[in-house]
Amino acid sequence: MLPGWLRDIAGSGRDALRLVFPERCAVCGRRLCAAEHCVCVPCYQALPFTRLHGERGNVVERIFWGKLPIVRANAYIHYYAGADSRRLFWSLKYYSRPQVGRYMGRAMAADLADSDFFDGVDLILPLPLSRRREKRRGYNQSTELARGVSEITGLPVDTSSVARTVDNPTQTHLTGQERQANVAGIFRLLRPEALRGRHVLLVDDVLTTGASLISCGQTIAAAGGVRLSVLTLALAGDHPLVPLTPRRPARRPDGEPARP
Ligand SMILES: [Zn+2]
Repeated sequence: MLPGWLRDIAGSGRDALRLVFPERCAVCGRRLCAAEHCVCVPCYQALPFTRLHGERGNVVERIFWGKLPIVRANAYIHYYAGADSRRLFWSLKYYSRPQVGRYMGRAMAADLADSDFFDGVDLILPLPLSRRREKRRGYNQSTELARGVSEITGLPVDTSSVARTVDNPTQTHLTGQERQANVAGIFRLLRPEALRGRHVLLVDDVLTTGASLISCGQTIAAAGGVRLSVLTLALAGDHPLVPLTPRRPARRPDGEPARP
C-alpha cells in the first residue's frame, strides 16, 4: 500500500493522464467520467448477468460433473452472439486493454463475496496461454481476471505450475467431443508438488463447452488429491439455464448494486 501523499501524487498523475488520453468505455467507446472505470454505468448495468451467484448444481457446475473433481463453478455474464457486450471481450483480448480483465475480475469476485464460493480455495490458477500467444498479446487475459479476483479475495495467483504447450486450432466448428479431443494433452504440469492436495480455482474468460478447462483441470488433477472450482467471466453457447434459487442482484466491484 502506498503512503497517502504518494497516492495523492499518483492519483493526480492518473487524472492528468486521463485528460490527455481519456479512458473510453470498453463496450460503447464513450468517454468515461472520473468515477467510471473500464465500462460506463449504462453499459455495465445492461450486461447480461447470469445471476447464478455460484449456486450449487448450477448449469456451469454441471458441465464439469463426471469430468473433473469439481467443487463449485460460476460464470458472471452471458456471451451472446451479436450482443454489444461482446465488445468487452474484444477490448480484453484484441485491443490491448488488460485493465478490463482486472476490473471484471474484481466484479465477478465481488458478486460472490457474500457467498461461500471461495471457502476452502487455496489458490487461483488462470488458464494458461502458450508462451508464443502470450508474448504476441503481451498478457494473458485470464491472468488479468485472476488478479482482479485476487484483489477481492486475497487468494494467491499461480501462473507457474501449469503450462500450455500447444495453441489449439479454432474450436468454433467442432462438436463437444471433437473439442475435447482437440485439446487433450495440451497442458503440462510443471510443479505438481505446488498443487497436490490443494483446492484450485481455475479462471478463464469465456466458457463454451468447457473443453480447454476440462483438459487443464485433468492435467492439474494428475498432481493427486486436487479439488477444483471454476470461475469464468462469461458463459457462451446453448445451455439450459434453469434457475434453481431466486436471483440476487449483481454488484459492481465498488459495491454499488447493478440494476440491469
Ligand atoms: Zn458504455
